[in-house]
Amino acid sequence: MSSVMPALSLKYSSGLKCKGWDVATVMKEIRRFGLSRFPTPLEPMLQLSKKLGGPEIWVKRDDLTSLAMGGNKTRKLEYLVADALSCGADTLITAGSIQSNHCRQTAAAAVRANMGCHLVLSGEPPADGGVQGNHLIDLIMGASLHWTDRNSRDAMMLTITEECRSQGLKPYIIPVGGSNGVGALGYVNALKELNVQSEQLEINFDRIVFASSSGGTQAGLQLGAELTGFSGRITGISVDQDKLQADSFTSHMAKIAGEAATILGVDSRINPGSFELNTNYIGSGYAVMGELERRAIHLAARTEALLVGPVYTARALGGLIDLVEKSVLLSKERILFWHTGDTPTIFAYAKELA
Ligand SMILES: *Cc1c(COP(=O)(O)O)cnc(C)c1O
Repeated sequence: MSSVMPALSLKYSSGLKCKGWDVATVMKEIRRFGLSRFPTPLEPMLQLSKKLGGPEIWVKRDDLTSLAMGGNKTRKLEYLVADALSCGADTLITAGSIQSNHCRQTAAAAVRANMGCHLVLSGEPPADGGVQGNHLIDLIMGASLHWTDRNSRDAMMLTITEECRSQGLKPYIIPVGGSNGVGALGYVNALKELNVQSEQLEINFDRIVFASSSGGTQAGLQLGAELTGFSGRITGISVDQDKLQADSFTSHMAKIAGEAATILGVDSRINPGSFELNTNYIGSGYAVMGELERRAIHLAARTEALLVGPVYTARALGGLIDLVEKSVLLSKERILFWHTGDTPTIFAYAKELA
């Protein structure tokens, strides 16, 4: 992916002088394009915890970031859009699947920043005209959509970049999931935000559990934990990587975290081995909803009135529930489920959920 990234992160690091390094001060110096109100709510899930009979489970509501139905990409895009603007860009280009939350959030961020937006979506538009969920919101936001197969997405982003340039536009490519060093800054900051909230409530979390896919969220959280001395475990539930892919994926996350550390001006390297990635819950693969997800969706809805989506958050919550039931997560622990926000996708799975 790095081959299609324009010179960006360097722009930040060259401007930063961080003597007497302190994460709060440094984060403040980095340009950020405001897309949401923060902090997002931190709430206990009393009824779900009671029903499962294990640890005390809380939820961090990143599904409630205030950008077009929310999600974790809002935090990444605050830094990515700021970087794009500082490079003089006027058009955002990114890619994802048909129900990509990242593409939906990028389309919305482009509107807020008064930029154009091209989305490369893998798959084909639904033949029956049944436009749904994130795909529908992409269209409502006015993004230009381009369809191709999954393996050709990068090439198509480059083609669109050239076309934009020939029209005198200044395009900026955001990698799939917004997962690079710039995007990961959003989750370094998020970990810091969690620390402040935990302090106010005088509680500690033994573990954070969340859906991991393109790695930027996990890279940012892990780096944030390292920099702020967060002592809990950080467990990504893989949405799409199997055991065989796990090693190269943790190396990829270490690289993203390294880029973010460079931007922050810290000499902090994260060893690939320190990432905790659980690959046991990928079921039949990406975006295929199974019994694990269906059960998590119904349980969260019927105990907490909390909506989780079939592709990411129901898989992660389903994994969390399974870990409680297998007593891997213990009653004496306090667990945080970090909701990364994919509510709109439930509508695209109506047939399987109704
Ligand atoms: C993108 C996404 C994730 C995964 O985040 P990464 O940074 O790509 O690992 C998790 N949940 C939802 C809802 C997402 O859209």
